[in-house]
Amino acid sequence: MKLSKYFVPTLKEVPADATVKSHILMLRSGMIRMVSAGIYSFLPLGYKVLRKVSQIVREEMDAIGGQEFHLPAINPKEIWEQTGRVEAFGDILFHIKNRDYVLAPTHEEIITFHAKNVVKSYKDMPQIWYQIQTKFRNEPRPRSGVIRGRQFLMKDAYTLDVSYEALDIAYSLNDKAYRNIFDRCGLDYFVVGASSGAMGGTGSEEFMVKSDAGEDSVAHCGSCGYAANAEVAASKVDAIVREKDGKEIYDIHTPNVRTIDELCEFLKIDETVCAKSRVYINDGKAVLVLMQGNDDVNESKLTKVLGGNVRPGHPEELLKITGADAGSIGPIDFKGRVIADLKLNDRNNLFSGANKNNYHIGGLDLKRDVTKIEYADLRIAQSGDGCTKCDNKLEVFTAIELGHIFKLGTKYSEALGAMYLDEKGEEHPIVMGSYGIGVERIMACYIEQNYDDKGLIWNKALAPFDVHLIALNMKKDAIVSMAEKLFSDLQKEGYEVLFDDRDAAAGFKFNDADLLGMPIQIVVGERKLKENKCEVTVRATGERFDVELSELNSKLKDLIDTLK
Ligand code: ATP
Ligand code: MG
Repeated sequence: MKLSKYFVPTLKEVPADATVKSHILMLRSGMIRMVSAGIYSFLPLGYKVLRKVSQIVREEMDAIGGQEFHLPAINPKEIWEQTGRVEAFGDILFHIKNRDYVLAPTHEEIITFHAKNVVKSYKDMPQIWYQIQTKFRNEPRPRSGVIRGRQFLMKDAYTLDVSYEALDIAYSLNDKAYRNIFDRCGLDYFVVGASSGAMGGTGSEEFMVKSDAGEDSVAHCGSCGYAANAEVAASKVDAIVREKDGKEIYDIHTPNVRTIDELCEFLKIDETVCAKSRVYINDGKAVLVLMQGNDDVNESKLTKVLGGNVRPGHPEELLKITGADAGSIGPIDFKGRVIADLKLNDRNNLFSGANKNNYHIGGLDLKRDVTKIEYADLRIAQSGDGCTKCDNKLEVFTAIELGHIFKLGTKYSEALGAMYLDEKGEEHPIVMGSYGIGVERIMACYIEQNYDDKGLIWNKALAPFDVHLIALNMKKDAIVSMAEKLFSDLQKEGYEVLFDDRDAAAGFKFNDADLLGMPIQIVVGERKLKENKCEVTVRATGERFDVELSELNSKLKDLIDTLK
């Protein structure tokens, strides 16, 4: 492809509305343009990458016996009503106004519809059905470019099996395909196991990449690979130190001191000797939760411990229950359950609220002063906490979900009546799995992990072109004819070549080559040409060397082989 004829509207400046690196670079390199919030057009260069990603996904799904479908994006609303998902999706679901249709945000319903009609016997299974197709979701806050679009490409696969044991096999096949896909794309990813949650399945895993653009907070152990959503991640606590000389409780007048930081500042103490109080309402009853210093309550851990309905108490409730406002609450004489985080286990000489506005207490001994106190792991895991699976430390960071594999079970087959007959002629619901990958997300996440201050850095697998060929001066016939010859020869050798044949300054061309990020750059210039040489640069490493024109082919083969 000749750049003079190719529509690649590169930008020098960072577009104002883009903050995420992949978004900025996809705009700057002329790969995408926004049409409206969360709705993007892929321009030729960007679409080329998207097609490469799709092809890798397709090959790996085919390799596990997947059969490719193409299901309609426009669905009768009725079938979505039968599974209860018009309500479950709520505002995320796009409705078509003049008809009872919805735009599909995923395709469990339509797959189950087909399964019901064609999969009648145990002999018809197992099946792995997949598609690479556009999905529609009215995401409330589309940002981060194509990472969260309102229209996006998803590879969604569904497995149909006779039993949960058979589903386990299908699930591990898809797991394998996912690992192959992400490996081939050159992504540095990790896997987070998740509980089945509200969807009624029996297990699921999320494939994620670390990124500032992520919206999920994850705790990860770089040593043993343990990873969990920070909401539920377990972490080890430091050894408990009970001080030898226990003090008696005493009141401290602390005017206008409300937060732990203000208390520490006022008393010149460390936050680790403070017990922070939070009041929750658990099925109508008050519960006092004590945390060390500024540690935050992990409400999903707390809900697991307490059971039932759990919500933070309102300010008026706090005053009624404790006699004090939020900043002065403490555990002494609290009427209700008192539960403290493990980091406070049996601690003494603590500072806490006095249940009296503008007062705190010192010398608090949880063992001595708080009857019937309970302890549990209640805090949100933080970077530096110990991993519970090995001896290393956890790192907590934000991450993006690339893909999801999920044992659905029989939720959809039961809702839509997709039944099969077993060997004995007995009827059972089909056991299903569903497996999704965001195709644009693979592309964006690759970029999040592979760029420098000059621009994109493509690997061999995803690069829109293998080689970026630059003719330094289009006014010199010798350069033009040699560049044209290389352009044609390299393509004959099977390389995809982007040829910068524009009549433009060298610096401008170099900048664009770095911005667009093809793995190999070849420069044809006057000086080197006189020695029958050209200059070759490896984009990823910046390595640059002169190559005899007659040896270019073999040199290129070696180079491309070394590129991941
Ligand atoms: P998220 O939590 O990020 O919203 P999700 O749990 O809604 O993701 P799934 O319903 O499991 O995602 O969809 C499967 C895959 O589709 C996701 O792993 C992700 O890669 C991709 N995906 C989901 N929503 C979007 C979106 N709005 N834009 C681009 N890709 C998306
Ligand atoms: Mg979502």
